Amino acid sequence: MTKASDIDDKEILLVVENSCIERGIWSNTTIVAEKYSEFPFKVVAAKLSKLLRRGLLTGCDCGCRGDWELTKQGREFAGIQVEWRDNPAEWFIEQGLVGPIRD
Ligand SMILES: [Zn+2]
Repeated sequence: MTKASDIDDKEILLVVENSCIERGIWSNTTIVAEKYSEFPFKVVAAKLSKLLRRGLLTGCDCGCRGDWELTKQGREFAGIQVEWRDNPAEWFIEQGLVGPIRD
């Protein structure tokens, strides 16, 4: 059985980051899961949820599409030097507004 801890933190953060850059907007659980075809979908979803709770990602882990994007802290953790944009969801969180941010 594969577990969320079998997925490397830095590696999946880079998958999310690259997917965001490609799309020009936040990523989705489905897109990230496609890159981890050897893992069940729910394991990839659980991994993203854990990274959300550690403050490394913004997004939503309710089972919707996710809208994942790295936080400043997440980019630092993954060793990303250049931010492709300021994560707009972080601004909302800093204002004390909670819940998923929609485009
Ligand atoms: Zn949701």
